[in-house]
Amino acid sequence: MAEAIKTLRGAFSESQVVLPSADDYATLNTSYLSKAQGELQPSAIFLPQDRDDVAKFVRLIGPLALQGKVKFAVRGAGQQPALGCNNIEGGITIDLRHLTGIHLKEDSSSVSVGAGERWGEVYSKLQESGLAVTGSRSSLGGIGGLSLSGGLSFFSSREGFITDNVINFEAVLASGEVVNANANENADLFVALRGGGNNFAIVTRYELRAFKQGKFWGGSVFYFPNSFPDQVEAYVKELKDPEATDETHIMIGAGYSAAYAQISEIMCMNQVYYTKEVENPPVLDPYVNMQPQLDAMKSVRMLNLVEAANQQAGHGSSTSRVSYMNTTVKADVPTLMAAYETYVNSLGPLKAVEGLTTSITLQAYPKSLLNKTSPAGGNSLGINPSDGPLMSVLILSFWQNSDDDDKIQSTFKNVLEAIDQDAAARGTAVPYKYMNYAAPFQDPIESYGEENKNKLQAASKKYDPKGLFQKCVPGGWKLFD
Ligand SMILES: Cc1cc2nc3c(=O)[nH]c(=O)nc-3n(C[C@H](O)[C@H](O)[C@H](O)COP(=O)(O)OP(=O)(O)OC[C@H]3O[C@@H](n4cnc5c(N)ncnc54)[C@H](O)[C@@H]3O)c2cc1C
Repeated sequence: MAEAIKTLRGAFSESQVVLPSADDYATLNTSYLSKAQGELQPSAIFLPQDRDDVAKFVRLIGPLALQGKVKFAVRGAGQQPALGCNNIEGGITIDLRHLTGIHLKEDSSSVSVGAGERWGEVYSKLQESGLAVTGSRSSLGGIGGLSLSGGLSFFSSREGFITDNVINFEAVLASGEVVNANANENADLFVALRGGGNNFAIVTRYELRAFKQGKFWGGSVFYFPNSFPDQVEAYVKELKDPEATDETHIMIGAGYSAAYAQISEIMCMNQVYYTKEVENPPVLDPYVNMQPQLDAMKSVRMLNLVEAANQQAGHGSSTSRVSYMNTTVKADVPTLMAAYETYVNSLGPLKAVEGLTTSITLQAYPKSLLNKTSPAGGNSLGINPSDGPLMSVLILSFWQNSDDDDKIQSTFKNVLEAIDQDAAARGTAVPYKYMNYAAPFQDPIESYGEENKNKLQAASKKYDPKGLFQKCVPGGWKLFD
């Protein structure tokens, strides 16, 4: 480790190699979504200023890492909570925050975005020209996590997965070489990066397909569990309607928070969007007008993209411990209701956990979205459009104390396993696990299926023959486990 730090300090300015003794170390290392991530203590945080710094880092540190002298982590905006995926105990964390710059192509067909940007900045820039891209619903989300793993946006039903909308990755390979990966150049790497996470390269720039987008209608609605079954029914009915519009984006969920427990043990929340400038579109009626509801908390209105993404960012927190885990099932009412019941029935012993806010959220992968993958050049996720429509089941939790880590994680791990088993028994199970929502115990790469895993492994052997990103970047989900 000492040799690696000495090498870095010889090659870069002091302010770029931040050691634990430096004033800004604590600020940088606590700027993760999950407090637990910031409890990992890297021996140094490296702050590249541009792509060439990243390449120089890989050329200098790669050989030392392959000799077993140092390990490193790659961090975008640090929003993913899976422990160790973007930070590392006793290694070097490369924090890409200074790789900024948003450049709209002259013909407005795409935008090139530095790996250190956040979605909110991209949306602000594009909105000036009446444009948008598929990206995180949260303005605070980083570009990398979603662009390398799949990703749902407000516009996914109409425009496809976020990763399918990346048309070029500018990437630093394990050799330090900078390459482009797109449909024509390094096409196997292009498809591998669409779902392969941090296994192939450090991506320094993303070119994202842009499209025209005006204001749209949407927001949140809070209501009570007696209406939840109707919501699930309506959602599945819409997804199975061959005439369904591709302008809706709907998340329905239920959860527990001590803050709301006096109103109702379980509160339900829908986040609903209609991505055209239409007030009160009838297709959203079932998800907006149920009664009773908490009228004072209803926020459905006409929004621009920046407002919508800022509203979503408000649901985040950086002072709590955070866990995501997910599975996928077919859009089937009995399966989804069983998932909801299993989750709700598990909550009793957890209600004493300090600061607990937890939810189960259903969000669709409609057929319209799945059908976009092939024309966009393919990805590595292994989802067969003919299996659709599918439903993502996300269990999200925020809490305060490390003493409760195991209790939360093991309770919801059991819930997820029970949901998968129940779905298997009904014939509605789907292997896919979304990497960006995965817990450390999950294996999204395995869930892509053998054929895709084999292709990912072949791409790794070709572009990273010594296995730098497999052996020396241990965080995230690896290809040969
Ligand atoms: C309020 C809120 C809203 C959200 N909304 C959405 C949403 O709308 N849709 C959705 O799909 N998810 C959503 N999420 C999930 C969240 O956006 C992701 O977990 C987050 O975007 C991760 O991105 P990041 O750039 O911060 O990645 P990080 O957490 O920094 O990294 C995640 C992984 O990607 C790797 N990585 C990141 N950048 C690079 C790079 N340049 N090169 C190589 N590897 C890299 C890291 O090594 C790590 O393994 C939301 C989360 C919150 C808290």
